[in-house]
Amino acid sequence: VIKYKNRYEVIEDLQNGIKLENVVGYYLNNIEKNIHLNVFVEVYKNEATDKARILQEKFDKNPNDLGLLFGMVFTIKDVISHKEHELSAASNILKGYTALYNSTAVERILAEDAIIIGRVNCDQFGMGSTNENSIYGPTRNAHNESLIPGGSSGASAVSLQIDSCMVALGTDTGGSVRQPAAFCSVYGFKPTYGRVSRHGLIAYASSFDQIGILSNSIENISEALHVIAGGDDFDSTCLQIEKPSYHIKTGDKKHKICYFNQALESSSIDPKIKSETFDYIHKLKDKGHEVVGVDSKYMDYLIPTYYILTTAEASSNLSRYDGIRFGKRSDNAKNLDEMYRKTRTEGFSNEVKRRIMLGTFVLSSGYYDAYYTQAQKVRRLIQKETLDLFEKFDFLLMPASPSFPWEIGAKSNNPIEMYLSDMYTVHANMVGIPGINIPISTGKNGKNIGIQFMSKKFEEDNLLQFAASL
Ligand code: GLN
Repeated sequence: VIKYKNRYEVIEDLQNGIKLENVVGYYLNNIEKNIHLNVFVEVYKNEATDKARILQEKFDKNPNDLGLLFGMVFTIKDVISHKEHELSAASNILKGYTALYNSTAVERILAEDAIIIGRVNCDQFGMGSTNENSIYGPTRNAHNESLIPGGSSGASAVSLQIDSCMVALGTDTGGSVRQPAAFCSVYGFKPTYGRVSRHGLIAYASSFDQIGILSNSIENISEALHVIAGGDDFDSTCLQIEKPSYHIKTGDKKHKICYFNQALESSSIDPKIKSETFDYIHKLKDKGHEVVGVDSKYMDYLIPTYYILTTAEASSNLSRYDGIRFGKRSDNAKNLDEMYRKTRTEGFSNEVKRRIMLGTFVLSSGYYDAYYTQAQKVRRLIQKETLDLFEKFDFLLMPASPSFPWEIGAKSNNPIEMYLSDMYTVHANMVGIPGINIPISTGKNGKNIGIQFMSKKFEEDNLLQFAASL
């Protein structure tokens, strides 16, 4: 049960004499009740309560002068810097590290009176699809506790399932916001690459990473996006262009939508997800939208290209964790060389090491052209194919995942199978376009299904508007 659907319901309660501190208390209580799901890495109990008191005073003084996110309680993923709070990327290598500054997204939401209630679990450095790759252990799906919640922003999605916040800030490099949103039956939105500053976000693959937003309502996502979007002097890839209004208006404009035939004909898709997706397509047509299957030449190249480029970028980004500058340093080293080696050996998980090694390999001289350069060329072709589609269509439709959430542990020893499960989400990050997961069926026992829609770059307003109309 979602107690507060939006911040206006909180404000209404305050007008009736309820204190903001009690609203925070309600969320804290849900955190307490669901401790066994392993969602939070750190709960900011005192801080969130203190901030509620300060904001209450502000409300009592002048209820007409409130920040744009007044009444919204957030969780943040453990890869987003929050000044003077620990930040670990769910990794031993950052254990004991405290953020020195706020990420731009955090800075902006706090300035608009948001309350951050805690920092939540995730896959180490955002590398994973299940939230199992974490020093804190796996997070469980609240709809069925033996299942994964998805990843890497798995705990962000569960923080909404258990109603411990109104909005969660996650990150999406290849689906980490949209896929867990689908597995947990919430909305999950990845903005265009370059819409939201990455300043203060721990880098995994810099040309793919974006901060994304999860919530139980699209209106909340729009309001949060309005605050965090927009140019930032600290991130030169974040575009200094005007942002449109993300305000959701009622309307039922008819749209042209396409999907890739190869995506729905793939042998990897669960038959039930395929049939539900086609049912959904029929419903869209009944509502007057045009929905057309088109061919993609590159469906089979998405996963290999994504995993070559992201591991290459990761191997470079993660070279900064050397035992000197951040967090952990090995106690068992006798000289400098050993110190680097042992720190990294002890600090990174096996999955992170696998990616550093893969990435180092594809960037090594002799293999660079065969893998890295080649993958860049393929990325370019995929981008061109998709951007051309948006000349004719408003939206691209894709399932969020080829399978239902699986049992914890089921794929842990099979990295290839794990990577293949990202086949529908990596596309948006390869191209840089925005995407949203819409929960379409909350199946029994956590068999949740989500549909994704993607749009042209920087047309988040149309995408969110359309999603809300659905
Ligand atoms: N599962 C994908 C990966 O492991 C996506 C992760 C993400 O978006 N951070 O790379």
